[in-house]
Amino acid sequence: MSVKENLIQLKNSLPAQVTLVAVSKTKPNAMITEAYEAGQRDFGENYVQELVDKQEQLPKDIHWHFIGHLQSNKVKYIAPFVYLIHGVDSAKLLQEINKQALKNNRTINCLLQIYIAQEETKFGFSFEECETFLRSDVFSQLKNIKILGFMAMASNTENEEQVRKEFRSLKQFAEKTSSLLHFPSSILSYGMSSDYKIAIEEGSTMIRIGSSIFGERSYSK
Ligand SMILES: *Cc1c(COP(=O)(O)O)cnc(C)c1O
Repeated sequence: MSVKENLIQLKNSLPAQVTLVAVSKTKPNAMITEAYEAGQRDFGENYVQELVDKQEQLPKDIHWHFIGHLQSNKVKYIAPFVYLIHGVDSAKLLQEINKQALKNNRTINCLLQIYIAQEETKFGFSFEECETFLRSDVFSQLKNIKILGFMAMASNTENEEQVRKEFRSLKQFAEKTSSLLHFPSSILSYGMSSDYKIAIEEGSTMIRIGSSIFGERSYSK
């Protein structure tokens, strides 16, 4: 099936409250354009330089989501235009985003990444760290960022119950901390090609889908 067919089929299957972010990392502009022409406006990228290049070359009304691991020294390159930064995983990074947002005379929307998986390799705050941070003075002084919700990745496992349990734990945390955020009904960004159906059943409002739309990625080039 084509990108357009994949996209339309997926979109038609989603409940109205779920936003689809089409993850276009490693994929050429021609494929993004095909999705754009089918009506898609939210795209996700993982690498700063690739995102900057694509933003320059593609239509200006695209909402660019940064979903990868962001290094503090690279925030400045995406600060002028990024729509939502999903993977904010430290106070230091958030302070840098705030600084660059101020320089660009704007507010940058962010999601805090929470570590829910039973794996060593995933980034993010623990629930305790996150709640402590949301209650801290450091956080209350950052005026050029808006925390709209949370992002997470579940364990990469065939065990659906495990994945479900992890998503559910984040949903419960979000309910518990909703009064601490800058937005009343928080964005919950979880669910990828392999687990988005479970994610939606467990309260996701934003799914990040790459391979089911654009095909498998090859990292060889
Ligand atoms: C690559 C990536 C995705 C999309 O993964 P697919 O399995 O291709 O749908 C979603 N979220 C993050 C953080 C990613 O890095």
